[in-house]
Amino acid sequence: MGRKFFVGGNWKCNGTGEEVKKIVTTLNEAEVPSEDVVEVVVSPPFVFLPLVKSLLRSDFHVSAQNCWVRKGGAFTGEVSAEMLVNLGIPWVILGHSERRALLNESNEFVGDKVAYALSQGLKVIACVGETLEQRESGSTVAVVAAQTKAIADKVSNWENVVLAYEPVWAIGTGKVATPVQAQEVHVELRKWLHNNVGAEVAASTRIIYGGSVNGANCKELATQPDLDGFLVGGASLKLEFIDIIKSAT
Ligand code: PGA
Repeated sequence: MGRKFFVGGNWKCNGTGEEVKKIVTTLNEAEVPSEDVVEVVVSPPFVFLPLVKSLLRSDFHVSAQNCWVRKGGAFTGEVSAEMLVNLGIPWVILGHSERRALLNESNEFVGDKVAYALSQGLKVIACVGETLEQRESGSTVAVVAAQTKAIADKVSNWENVVLAYEPVWAIGTGKVATPVQAQEVHVELRKWLHNNVGAEVAASTRIIYGGSVNGANCKELATQPDLDGFLVGGASLKLEFIDIIKSAT
């Protein structure tokens, strides 16, 4: 089953209006493979979503970096899935390790968020990944399986889910997983989906890799058969993001 290559740019909590405009101009001028070959999604901070949506080329798409777990209302400081839909934002990143670690988002909370966002019509980049300690103690597969299970417990239709494997030790550290390390976990995740959700979902769900992906290491990572794209942090703010998009071919 064809899984279209996916490249997401997670801008995190970075940028001024001027900087954001500059990045968008660069992306708009880039010559990259067509939308039939690679799906490109950039994720600016909430406040820049309307600006980016209005300026960005139409073959690239926009994502939020988070949304609230249920219908909006008296939740000061939160942004609801309904609001993103109302703005015409098609994607949201959920379960990023920075939110899991710094804001104590549990597996169950992330599962609830994914289910609610999907129910409102958003597409979701759902992140899983182990810490260095967990990897060293041999529990990588158990950790990512538990994170995935918490999503699968609440979600029956995986059509609009992209699973992002992002080992915490590789995020923002410059320590990228080797292609073999990434492929190993992607295979385990696909196996888990096969055994617990279904063969079709396992074959069709895109599993992308994130963690210190850059213009220099993307090509080799992209050759791995179970690696269907990237979620890029630091390098998504730089010119090399275009090379990462091009690694789709
Ligand atoms: P990084 O971040 O590419 O800067 O390591 C990836 C991410 O957090 O999605």
